[in-house]
Amino acid sequence: MHYLDHAATAPLRDSARAAWIDAAGRLGNPSSLHAPGRAARAIVEDARERIAAALGADPAEVVLTSGGTEADNLAVKGLHWGRSAADPAARRLIVSAVEHHAVLDAARWLASRGDAELIEIPVDAHGVIDLDALDTALDHESSAVSIMWANNEVGTVQPVRAAVELASAHGVPVHSDAVQAIAHLDVDFRDSGLAALSVSAHKLGGPVGVGALLARRGLPLVPTAHGGGQQRQVRSGTLDAAGAAAFAAALDDAVAERAAERDRLEGLRERLLDGLRAAVPGATVSGLDDAGRRLPGIVHAVIPGARAESVLFLLDAGGIAASSGSACTAGVVQASHVAEAMGWSAEDAACTLRLSMGRTTTADDVEAVLAALPGAVERARAATGA
Ligand code: PLP
Repeated sequence: MHYLDHAATAPLRDSARAAWIDAAGRLGNPSSLHAPGRAARAIVEDARERIAAALGADPAEVVLTSGGTEADNLAVKGLHWGRSAADPAARRLIVSAVEHHAVLDAARWLASRGDAELIEIPVDAHGVIDLDALDTALDHESSAVSIMWANNEVGTVQPVRAAVELASAHGVPVHSDAVQAIAHLDVDFRDSGLAALSVSAHKLGGPVGVGALLARRGLPLVPTAHGGGQQRQVRSGTLDAAGAAAFAAALDDAVAERAAERDRLEGLRERLLDGLRAAVPGATVSGLDDAGRRLPGIVHAVIPGARAESVLFLLDAGGIAASSGSACTAGVVQASHVAEAMGWSAEDAACTLRLSMGRTTTADDVEAVLAALPGAVERARAATGA
């Protein structure tokens, strides 16, 4: 099997598996006062320190969560509620139109119940946010801004620092979803000027179901779940020592090999792009050419006439696991909101292909997909009469 879906989830690292098994085998709730509880707490706090160090944060800024989705929800809802509670005029929530659904749908939900006035910042044909539109949207009535570090469908890296500069002129905190970024790019929370940043373990070889929100101290964050008051009342729930330990182990390894991996993936990406352009007539590769303004491991293309579910099914039958990049319900790919925001019609936005690479991807995987793709696209197009 050739696995080209690392952006969906990456293979578990041995270090993460070992750390998880070791910690999961120990007894003790990290909030209990007895010796096993204190030992479990020590595992959590060691993991928190390592996660903080790897991401340029202070351990007190790391709120462990059940993954990227929870971190995004806590950031968007918690920050909006917190800011608008302190200042009722601060009702305007600003997010980019290409956010992951964990941000976008949380923001739309707040708007639908009248809690927020929502502004979605448009993007250009490469998926880069319109900074002028952001500047226009910002004023004293803005509650928060959420702009992702790198897009999960097309790989475009956003001008987060420029967004932070614009927002800070109005005293508005900025959150960034860096779930796809941390495996490949140098992400430093302190340096970024961000108020909050979401990360997830399973995109870099940690287990599914663990992540974190990095949140600056003093940030007004209203909890999204109430309970035992763990993690300074911001995120209740028994602390997951095994998940935290496994996340820290995976992150340590990912950061240590990140620069070398980035170069290796750039090489594979070049070959994949050349091959794709030569082998698939009519395919338009998305995003910017400029390395540094896109993720090294993602190749995304719109292939008009070739519906994503058909192409994916045919590739899968040939032993290749790929993705459209957008949500899939009952085997039918929904038109990608990211491709639509980039200017594609709804029809073309249902004809996307995302090939995403990571640390186990080899040149052999790339050649296999290039060999299978022309036939799959031809058959998919024949099925729609294109
Ligand atoms: N944000 C981005 C950009 C993602 O790619 C994903 C995962 O697909 C998430 C958030 C959600 O993360 P998790 O799967 O850990 O809930």
